[in-house]
Amino acid sequence: MNTIKVFLSIEAYQKMRYWASMAVGEVSGLGTVTEKRTGKGKVEAYLIDDIFLLSQFSTHANTVLDDNAIGGFLTDLIQRGEDPSRVKLWWHSHGEMNAFWSNTDEQCIHNLANSSYMISLVTNKTMEILTRIDLFHPFHIKLDNIETDIFMPEPEGLQEFCAAEFQSKVIEQIDWALPRHERPDANRYKELDEKVSNREMSVEQYEHELLMLDDIYF
Ligand SMILES: [Zn+2]
Repeated sequence: MNTIKVFLSIEAYQKMRYWASMAVGEVSGLGTVTEKRTGKGKVEAYLIDDIFLLSQFSTHANTVLDDNAIGGFLTDLIQRGEDPSRVKLWWHSHGEMNAFWSNTDEQCIHNLANSSYMISLVTNKTMEILTRIDLFHPFHIKLDNIETDIFMPEPEGLQEFCAAEFQSKVIEQIDWALPRHERPDANRYKELDEKVSNREMSVEQYEHELLMLDDIYF
């Protein structure tokens, strides 16, 4: 099973939402990706840390990124001292239409083929998101419907802080959540069980008695 995940930084997600809602129809752009690896070096997730809008000509059903715009974008990126090989996302919005891969999208992904992989993400005005990863070497393989989420960075020690606060401030009365055999009057339940299995009590009576006992806990 494919367990790889794609995360969007909060900023990347918000930019995408703004641009998708501002456009009447389609709109598209590129993005930078950071690979998240396990201790053993295996890629377990991709983080889209930023997305960009490029000069484009858009219609209701189509958006074209021209090669000059892509070239100019990459040149600017390099001039800012960034690594152009991190540009591994193509995102676009379908406006009011569903998020799916059209023939034009397939063609676009084909044109974006590089020496490693490309993540493609299609969204729309209702915030649907469909993500796929295309690996181009040594042969083309497509992984579709990649689980996609917003990456929420957590300040260091937050979980420990919450656990300490919880332990010092919250007293939970959770008797009702105990299984019957762990409740203080577990013997009463046991007696009832025995009675019904020895046919000393009808099933109706048994259920009634059980409810009476449970009442204390609910
Ligand atoms: Zn499309």
